[in-house]
Amino acid sequence: MLDLGRVRADTPGCAGRAFLDSAGSSLPPSPVLDEMIGHLRREAEIGGYRAAAERADDLADVKVSLAQLLGAQPADLALVESASRAWADFFYAVPLASGDRILITEVEYASNAIAAFQRARSSGASVEVVPSTPTGEIDLDALHRMLDERVRLVSLVHAPTNGGLINPVREVVDLAHGVGALVLLDACQSVGQVPVDVRELGVDALSATGRKWLRGPRGTGFLYLRPELAQSMEPAALDLHGAQWAEETGYRLAPDASRFEFWECSVAGRLGLGAAIRYLLDLGIDEVASAVSARAEFARTELAALPGVTVRDLGGHRSGIVSFTVEGVDPNSAREVLADSDVTVTVSGRGSTWVDMTRRGLDGVLRASPHYFNTFEDLDRLVAAVAEL
Ligand SMILES: *Cc1c(COP(=O)(O)O)cnc(C)c1O
Repeated sequence: MLDLGRVRADTPGCAGRAFLDSAGSSLPPSPVLDEMIGHLRREAEIGGYRAAAERADDLADVKVSLAQLLGAQPADLALVESASRAWADFFYAVPLASGDRILITEVEYASNAIAAFQRARSSGASVEVVPSTPTGEIDLDALHRMLDERVRLVSLVHAPTNGGLINPVREVVDLAHGVGALVLLDACQSVGQVPVDVRELGVDALSATGRKWLRGPRGTGFLYLRPELAQSMEPAALDLHGAQWAEETGYRLAPDASRFEFWECSVAGRLGLGAAIRYLLDLGIDEVASAVSARAEFARTELAALPGVTVRDLGGHRSGIVSFTVEGVDPNSAREVLADSDVTVTVSGRGSTWVDMTRRGLDGVLRASPHYFNTFEDLDRLVAAVAEL
């Protein structure tokens, strides 16, 4: 069992307010904050290069911890600035030619879709949307029918940004690999709240962020690549960290996924990310997942019982994202009213998941995303504040 008293004592931001936006940008625990602030002070004392050199072992350990969390090897991980950066780093490295096909899903995240449209335009490839089942998951039969040897990549969102759905992954991977297509998994809303094991999922690449369910710093994200790809793919952009200038007009790529990194980074951010991952590993992802699920289910049940409130979550297997609308109330103004009573939620607008929201006739949904550090009183506070609307 999680020690709620301890995790709350470690979370200075949670006292006296109901913070329910871990799907947006969560509250980092004090070890993350201490690590980052300590390193910034050290940089101010002795300069960034020496400060980083002092922490070389700890910096290398960030990937070791992350590898442990994901069931990967450190060499197959690239640390970058965001989930979108990681997604794009992989996506722009996939060779595309005229006539190639890219498959996305109805819950595709806008940044990914925009990148796909841009590359389709420049390469002559096409982007097609795999339909969802009536319960919101990717329709595996439809996917099966759409797949052929011209499909280069299937982009799958593990847990969409605008609702509590979790998509099947292994089934998609098996179908896609049957025609030789790559699977890029956007795990931005799943890493840190549910177990994500790249060996079990079998994906070719995975992108995620530090600041959401991992409770790490902003400006951190990462890319996992299947070992074979980490050793063979040519990134779209390189610097002197991703490659070595080894002859007058030539270069040698780094032997592993670090070819997808640039040299410069926020060292404090990286150390903070490492602290966040270690904090999670200490708690145990299974404990975290069941605590998140209990809180989200409680919130759904209580919200659904309020007159005029509609819970919008789809899916048989649910994440910690609770999406809902209140009849006659604009989600953005509702968010502001809730913020006035120190209940922090956010709004997921149509533009983030355009196809899904458009097909469901939604312009925006309120999004509450409780984490394990939230109490059930936080959720009562949310429900009471929503009832007031
Ligand atoms: C937040 C989010 C992203 C983008 O993450 P950044 O770190 O802001 O780039 C991508 N996909 C999904 C599903 C998200 O919810």
